[in-house]
Amino acid sequence: MELNENARIDTSQIDDQRSAGGGGGGIGGLPIGGGGLTGIIVTVLIALVGGYFGINNLSGGGGEPQAGDNTKLRQECSQSDAIKQLDCRNALFVNSIQDYWADAFPQNFGDPYKPSKTVFFSNRVRTGCGAADSGTGPFYCPADDRVYIDLTFYRLLADQLGAPGEFAQPYVLAHEYGHHIQDLAGTEAAMRREQERNPSDANKLSVKLELQADCYAGVWAKNATGTDAGGVKLIKSITDQDIQEGLDTASKIGDDTLQQRSGGSVNPAEFTHGTSAQRQQWFRQGYESGSPKDCDTFAAGAVS
Ligand SMILES: [Zn+2]
Repeated sequence: MELNENARIDTSQIDDQRSAGGGGGGIGGLPIGGGGLTGIIVTVLIALVGGYFGINNLSGGGGEPQAGDNTKLRQECSQSDAIKQLDCRNALFVNSIQDYWADAFPQNFGDPYKPSKTVFFSNRVRTGCGAADSGTGPFYCPADDRVYIDLTFYRLLADQLGAPGEFAQPYVLAHEYGHHIQDLAGTEAAMRREQERNPSDANKLSVKLELQADCYAGVWAKNATGTDAGGVKLIKSITDQDIQEGLDTASKIGDDTLQQRSGGSVNPAEFTHGTSAQRQQWFRQGYESGSPKDCDTFAAGAVS
């Protein structure tokens, strides 16, 4: 993947709350640091509860999200070597994903696209969906239309879950924006209603929602080199190796793989995100097609 060093990174799509975060240390930092075996167990337990990468729809405990301070990020990402910085690269990925959907959403769903900010946080964060910490992993909150990520999650992916490739980063973000698309399109609300009607199918429906978000991530990847900011291309190239890294990441965060990692047996009834094979299959489907219309995981027989 080659980013355009001349890209104009729009940091207004980010809400940088890292300096406001939970005071350092604490339980939020625990799974990330060199926690060894305990860290892995804690992480995987949390992963099994929250799932990677979730959609956070906790009711209650919401309220107004905090506002961050983008001054430092804006300065950093306006410098000539900005794309060497992890946070600026992630801001660029967000720009690219939203530039794609700004055109593709109206074309495919008939309504205008409504932008969503990504919140960078450290350790802990207050959201419209309640309080969260880093151990939750990245998530989308439908109540306040924002994506939340502690960027240290990528270290966890690399060191503990075995997905070190850099393409994991835009894959994670594009998956979360996939949830934003499902929110805007009404897919997410329809899925929740269906879950209430058929509680025994709740996990199966969740899997379909998550696999569709993986598919949307693949769709973005296919179209990423066509995105720009102010007429300046954001991403110069995406290689087969990048796509392989996306697939590798998908394979490391499948429910079956995470259950095995936690030392337990594989229990399909508890799947909420799909197996490693399914997550790879739908990311690949999105990438090969390049069209959101080919991401209908809710169609009869699309997910078995
Ligand atoms: Zn998800």
